[in-house]
Amino acid sequence: MDRSHIEKISKALADGTRLKIFQAISASKCISCGEIVSMRGVTPATVSHHLKILNEAGLIACRREGQFVYSQAVPETIEAYTRALTRISSVKKTSRRRVLSHVTKCALATVCSQFLPSVVRASLFSQSTGPKTSPNNSARPQLALTLDDPRLSLGLALKWPEANNRILKAISERDIRAALFVCGMRVDEADGIKLLSAWDQGGHLICSHSYSHKFYGEQTSYADFAADFLKNEKVIAPYRNRTALFRYPFLKEGDTADKRDRFRALLKERGYRVGHVTIDASDWYVSQRFVDRLAKQPNAPIAPYRDYLIAHLLDRAAFYRQLALDVLGRDIPHTLLLHFNPLNAFVLPEVLKAFETARWRWIDASLAFEDPISRSQPRTLPAGESLVWALAKETGRFENRLRYPGEDDVYEKPKMDALGL
Ligand SMILES: [Zn+2]
Repeated sequence: MDRSHIEKISKALADGTRLKIFQAISASKCISCGEIVSMRGVTPATVSHHLKILNEAGLIACRREGQFVYSQAVPETIEAYTRALTRISSVKKTSRRRVLSHVTKCALATVCSQFLPSVVRASLFSQSTGPKTSPNNSARPQLALTLDDPRLSLGLALKWPEANNRILKAISERDIRAALFVCGMRVDEADGIKLLSAWDQGGHLICSHSYSHKFYGEQTSYADFAADFLKNEKVIAPYRNRTALFRYPFLKEGDTADKRDRFRALLKERGYRVGHVTIDASDWYVSQRFVDRLAKQPNAPIAPYRDYLIAHLLDRAAFYRQLALDVLGRDIPHTLLLHFNPLNAFVLPEVLKAFETARWRWIDASLAFEDPISRSQPRTLPAGESLVWALAKETGRFENRLRYPGEDDVYEKPKMDALGL
């Protein structure tokens, strides 16, 4: 946590009324604006001002449901604030980064020992030793599930209704609301409406991922990309939980400043924000390898692919979490990108559980997208990748930790080849 953030929190809590509001919010799991106004000394005229200041300091998260606004505390901010104050007042300096990266590794090691053969552990996590710090000292990082490219055609492995049921069941068992990023061409027929309606009825956000999944680079003009985005509006329009969040296909946001900025202006004009990914990964590639294997060997076991997927996702999550801490000085609510594919349909319950074992806490996607960080518009070129990646790139200070693209099959192929997957 940097000095300006410490000052912001200190100022937010220096007002007696705000402190009282923060206390009330912290004491309840989720509280409405109306309940806060019913407290002594709080008026409807001032409540939104106080909530705004608490929200901007990262102390609370607010979520709008229809005409109501609900608030909940973000305990991680207080924990980080306490740590920062301790650091300021302590003579002896400690390296937070070293401790946190070790904490993450401890958690990973716990999970991975359950799932992974030692050869994979060795290839994915090169450093296995570190200071003996209890993982329990660390705040639980938060993450939301976002799922891209729901589709009616999944190849031989599985029919869409079964995949849809399995994925929705895994999520609903956690009582969380995910965000579904819909690419129109994959669902633009009668069955597609059934597929999306099931998500809508589950309270999940129905968001846009363009109509044709174009790569917004050299080959795609602004005009073509804009028309394709507008075409998708009618696909998501009918749903109650339609949410004006747009996710760029392949996370590519334009190869020139002109194309990048013109499309950002269009999003703004249409009332959209970017449905950013903070934890990017190559789950799509692991699933593709699994499906290819099934085509050759229909009874191939799924476990090695599940284990690889889980280890890969936890590794990427730890990487982007640490990068966010180093760039921003605070833990942010993360958004994990997964795809609607056969492997995830089969193993999603185990994936979700593995994150919990690694001390991550699942939250509603709407909360993650309300964090101020999700309004950032990094000015990198080519634009895109994980939001954390782009923010790090923009500083110019993390070149040795950034590869381009951030994630892709080329990084996983040699490891999967070596494992015979
Ligand atoms: Zn996609």
